[in-house]
Amino acid sequence: MGAGVAGLVAAYELNGRGYDVDVYEASPRVGGRIHTHRFGPEPAAPYVELGAMRIPTKHRHAMRYVRELGLIDRVRPFRTLLSEASNYLISESGPVRLSEAMPALVGSLQRRLPRSGYREASLRFAAFLTLAVEAIAPVYMRGQLLGNPMQIGRLVDRLDGMDLGPYLPEPDRSARLAEFFVDNPGFRSLLPLGLDGFIDDIVTETNADLVSLEGGMDALPRRLADALTAAVWVDHKVVGIRARKQDVVIEVVHAKRTIVRRYDYVLCTIPFSALRHIRLCDFDPDKLAIVRKIEYCPATKVAFYCREPFWRNDGISGGASFTGGGIRQTYYPDSGSVLLASYTIGEEADRLGRMKPADRHEYVRQQLAKVHPQILEPGMVRAAASQAWGHDEWSRGGCTVRWGKDDGQIADELELAAAPQNHLFFAGEHCSKNPAWIDGAIESALEAVDGIDADLTGSYPVRRSA
Ligand SMILES: Cc1cc2nc3c(=O)[nH]c(=O)nc-3n(C[C@H](O)[C@H](O)[C@H](O)COP(=O)(O)OP(=O)(O)OC[C@H]3O[C@@H](n4cnc5c(N)ncnc54)[C@H](O)[C@@H]3O)c2cc1C
Repeated sequence: MGAGVAGLVAAYELNGRGYDVDVYEASPRVGGRIHTHRFGPEPAAPYVELGAMRIPTKHRHAMRYVRELGLIDRVRPFRTLLSEASNYLISESGPVRLSEAMPALVGSLQRRLPRSGYREASLRFAAFLTLAVEAIAPVYMRGQLLGNPMQIGRLVDRLDGMDLGPYLPEPDRSARLAEFFVDNPGFRSLLPLGLDGFIDDIVTETNADLVSLEGGMDALPRRLADALTAAVWVDHKVVGIRARKQDVVIEVVHAKRTIVRRYDYVLCTIPFSALRHIRLCDFDPDKLAIVRKIEYCPATKVAFYCREPFWRNDGISGGASFTGGGIRQTYYPDSGSVLLASYTIGEEADRLGRMKPADRHEYVRQQLAKVHPQILEPGMVRAAASQAWGHDEWSRGGCTVRWGKDDGQIADELELAAAPQNHLFFAGEHCSKNPAWIDGAIESALEAVDGIDADLTGSYPVRRSA
């Protein structure tokens, strides 16, 4: 159930092991939160990623399927947020180029610190770190760090005693946060609870080792679907699941008709945020509780197909700016005249998600004009597209979050989320140790496939619900 990357990888692997599989997908397309939007019907139309847009090369499961499905020749470096000297960041005095921003960032940091007298290197490193937090973290996490001078003071105190030479930001490159956190694992304990875990995502998102697929990330789910001998039934919405002792019965609505099907085994990759709106029978109370409880963070993207890539005349050839306010991040994809004008998570994403699409697009256009006034020129925006994942019927959230939970709580949540109910198994990013990434969704699918296979062949006992 669900033709996102977890469902498709699982179907592909089960097919490969000789099982007959059907895939039911509620929406009219495969891919789920991998969603390439094309501004036109033809395959070569300008496009933008409204869902996942990059893969860290260290994500071995995701990269394995990129290779296995013959997509390696489409892999291109992904230039990320604050990676290019010409990218902008919005400061107290307006937009500044990254290459010229350090004095302003250091000045603003110094004003927040409880004392003076820190080394220049500590201030420069801390200024970049706090900028990355400001640009990527959700509102409440930003507040915990940036609104607390004592907390920032503790960070800079510690940095003052460290050799920061290898990690410092330079005019032509951002700070080496990834290397810094690998070499200094204890430093994260100085971050407020929640941010100490989310910092991994911040580090990954500002890292140079990211790639994307030229022509659209949706090549990954599409190639998976094409490789299946399984039937993929799109526009088939699962509305009821009964996890019986010996099999699973599902109710599916298609073209206003309800179909009832019985299967020996079922794998559910429907996000729990959507699953909690489905009729669930014969589930353990613990399982029902976790389906209702897992937290999701909203995410919203807004894109403009422009008359011309005006940012190029402004010296910007890629990467992303921190445009702040209610729009947060603006990406300049390599694909022609399309601008990913706003990428938000948390409160800002929810706020945009609540607006009607036309109001949302106009709000983003007006906000973006503070950095790129050209966007207001008549005829500059040819078309707009957006996706508010928190308000999407099939996801009802951007991604799972476990912010502020300790290792024990996370392990318990994971075990419960992935625990099968009789012959009903579970996968998806919400069942993974690496949530909010394609890689985590795939990893959980592979674990579920092993679980189903083992249960069928009796090769090892799978923990069953009572
Ligand atoms: C804005 C955004 C940006 C992201 N950026 C990145 C990135 O750059 N790199 C990265 O690796 N990851 C990124 N992610 C995360 C990544 O997209 C997800 O972790 C991954 O795609 C989740 O896959 P999944 O199969 O678990 O879930 P989904 O893709 O959500 O698949 C679940 C499927 O179930 C279907 N469904 C729901 N309800 C029903 C029902 N009742 N009946 C039948 N089907 C149903 C849905 O339509 C969907 O197709 C991003 C996510 C978002 C939202």
